[in-house]
Amino acid sequence: MRVVRTLSVWLLLSSLGSVLAAQGYAPTDVEMTVKQVGPHSYYVQGQAGVATDNQGFISNAGFVVTDAGVVVIDALGTPSLAAKLQQLIGTVTAQPVVRVIVTHYHADHIYGLQVLKDAGAEIWAPSGARRYLDSVQAAERLEERRFSLDPWVNEQTHLVPPDRWLTETTRFSLGGVDFRIDMLGAAHSDDDMSVYVASDKVLYSGDIIFEGRIPYVGDADTKQWLAALTAMQTEGLRALVPGHGPAASDPSAAVRATRDYVAYLRQVMGEAADQLQDFDSAYRAADWSRFENLPAFEAANRRNAYQVYLSMEAEALSGG
Ligand SMILES: [Zn+2]
Repeated sequence: MRVVRTLSVWLLLSSLGSVLAAQGYAPTDVEMTVKQVGPHSYYVQGQAGVATDNQGFISNAGFVVTDAGVVVIDALGTPSLAAKLQQLIGTVTAQPVVRVIVTHYHADHIYGLQVLKDAGAEIWAPSGARRYLDSVQAAERLEERRFSLDPWVNEQTHLVPPDRWLTETTRFSLGGVDFRIDMLGAAHSDDDMSVYVASDKVLYSGDIIFEGRIPYVGDADTKQWLAALTAMQTEGLRALVPGHGPAASDPSAAVRATRDYVAYLRQVMGEAADQLQDFDSAYRAADWSRFENLPAFEAANRRNAYQVYLSMEAEALSGG
């Protein structure tokens, strides 16, 4: 009798567990707090670190509250984090999330999309993100994160394509708030864009700017990245919210800092590639003192330098 009862309780619990697993997401206990940067504009800030640190909460997400719904900018690195973000938005407004603008398709900004999509939001992304979504790397990355970010990224986590692909500067108004989306090209990723909340003078720059830490270069086209940084208008901004790190109190300085770093990588690695110097000795000879005290230096700098070395080699060979 007792065995039967235990078994039926177990069956009940396990079926309840699978129902929860199908609908809910593994709870996350990371610290996430909402910061306001303009009358309608807010963000949450991930911690500096590599992608699997801090339960995957290493990137930022923004949100803009209007009378006709909330616009979210980037969806964080796990569904659990996006669910937490959604809860926090609920403490600020009763408005639903109606739109998610993805500045670029990289794992740390998109695995939360399914939560917001399921809640009815429409997703916009730069058209070049198709290359990412169609790539073997995107599938492999997700597979890898199902291990490295278990249980927050798991078998239920999937890639969500946007409802609308953007190819050019796009302006829209929602609930009386004016937005402008600028296309930055294949700079940090296959395609990047920034979101400017004109009514608040707040710029969400995506990963084109890393504030207070070493950027993650990955497979970025650093030439295009530098061009986008050079073209970026920062005058009169109330705040600049980067893809990683705190909102910049001095937006021009934030742009300059990322630009200096990318330019320096291109300069030293370009010279090495030009002179057919091997990477190791070029890396050792370079003066990293300006950057070595920044967060993520240990984790990211050598890899960044190597990626730029390889791309500068390719640029030198192609005469570009
Ligand atoms: Zn990122």
